[in-house]
Amino acid sequence: MSSLALAADDQPISAPSAKNAFSNRRTFAIISHPDAGKTTLTEKLLLTGGAIEMAGAVRAKGNKARAKSDWMGIEKDRGISVTSSVMTFQKDGINFNLLDTPGHSDFSEDTYRTLTAVDSAIMVIDAAKGIEGQTRKLFEICRLRDIPIITFVNKIDREGRDPFELLDEIEEQLAMDVAPMVWPVGQGGLFKGVYDLAEHDFISAKGDGTKHFDGGLDDPALEKALGAETYSGFREAAELAGEGYASFDAQSYRDGHLTPVLFGSALENFAVDRLMDLIAAHAPEPRPQPSDKGPIDPSGEKVSGFVFKVQANMDPKHRDRVAFVRFCSGHFKRGMKLDHVRSGKAIAVSNPIYFVAQERSLTEEAYAGDVIGIPNHGTLQVGDTLTEGETFRFTGLPAFAPEVLRRVRLEDTMKMKQLRRGLEDLAQEGLVQVFRPTIGSDWIVGVVGPLQLDVLASRISGEYKADVTFEPVQYNVARWIRCANEQTLKQFIKDNTNQIVRDRDDRPVYLCRDDWDLRYIMERNKDIAFDATREIV
Ligand code: GDP
Repeated sequence: MSSLALAADDQPISAPSAKNAFSNRRTFAIISHPDAGKTTLTEKLLLTGGAIEMAGAVRAKGNKARAKSDWMGIEKDRGISVTSSVMTFQKDGINFNLLDTPGHSDFSEDTYRTLTAVDSAIMVIDAAKGIEGQTRKLFEICRLRDIPIITFVNKIDREGRDPFELLDEIEEQLAMDVAPMVWPVGQGGLFKGVYDLAEHDFISAKGDGTKHFDGGLDDPALEKALGAETYSGFREAAELAGEGYASFDAQSYRDGHLTPVLFGSALENFAVDRLMDLIAAHAPEPRPQPSDKGPIDPSGEKVSGFVFKVQANMDPKHRDRVAFVRFCSGHFKRGMKLDHVRSGKAIAVSNPIYFVAQERSLTEEAYAGDVIGIPNHGTLQVGDTLTEGETFRFTGLPAFAPEVLRRVRLEDTMKMKQLRRGLEDLAQEGLVQVFRPTIGSDWIVGVVGPLQLDVLASRISGEYKADVTFEPVQYNVARWIRCANEQTLKQFIKDNTNQIVRDRDDRPVYLCRDDWDLRYIMERNKDIAFDATREIV
């Protein structure tokens, strides 16, 4: 491990005491456009962290598990990742909690919620493509939540774009400083490795290890090692890079003003260890989390956490449902009773699970920053707060008004019960939103993108044995409605019964054809708020 593994204040990371055990947690997500290499990088991080023993294991195990359920079949067919999960691994005294996010834009709501549970993110960019649509969207979410970002420019082993051009693009498009940490030596067919600009190490791509050069860029031994021709081109570029871009500043990175940039290759497992060192040394430890009684500090003694994701039927044989909880304070121990703030009831957490690669096992304890799964039968919903005898709620988990609405048609009307169960379960997971019309009996589902409908149909058929199709409705816009004056709201609902549906918490939602209709009705009902997002509580 390089000296990057020292903490920001240059103190070696020591074994944490109970009070600050959370400080060695790094809870992060990888954001990227599909195909940039997120899965490959995840696998290499797990490999480097000793969580798996063989490259290819994530995919291979994934495929085996995926064969079990249809919706995962969709994921495989389309070559995209549609599910978020968590992977925990340890290295050199640091606990890494990697939260997986779906890369496809149709699942951005799920991704958004996952990003509420991380303290930092890695942005993977394809060296041949630069910043792509989905990278940008996810980046914006990180910025909204002040999540600091490390950039990994991937596929440097292949012919790619000029490193200067890539850095300028990141700097301009994302409006933040870039600090190259390593610089590529040669590119494409002539790629020889990368040079660590701060440590003065040359990391060879040929697998012959890392060499340190005391004299830095001027060291004659470096010239000899690279060959005169490669050396002169590289040196000129590295010097220009040193002058042209910001140097790394840990505070600026944590404040979200600067992104350190690594050039590497996930496939060749190249510079992935530098990435891990960087996360260990500088990525923020668990941060205070917003709640309705103010930020909850991770050093607080009482246990607290929130559910950011629920996944039903992870193992189709057991029909179980797992709520993913991010802890925000305290020292959780297995068997503890936690207060479920929404219902006011206590829950004994006797089977908390944590996830290593695709495996799960029981965990005995957890600290702020850790993520565990709690198997349950529907008690725990996305947005729920768990505490040790306190009544506050974590805030900031949004639901977005859907952009695609469809009526659900059941092929076999005898299967109504199965359909209802499936829709309720999958709405609770956050896969879709489900609305019940005031008039008529067909459910309406709302999604952000049409791919979610494919997944919904496939899962309802596979897991609940009911076949469904979707029909267009005449509405494209949905808004939650509320009003300080209850009578006004009641009257509005009465006057517009045809266009009112109820969400799964029985909240009224107004449907209309388009934005023009929405503006018209808003003009006429100034007392009523039409919300495009609502906070999940
Ligand atoms: P994801 O969609 O972001 O998860 O991307 P994957 O990890 O599935 O990678 C997409 C494709 O790019 C696969 O064919 C990978 O083998 C390939 N790939 C990933 N990383 C690298 C790399 O560093 N170099 C090269 N040449 N190919 C890579």
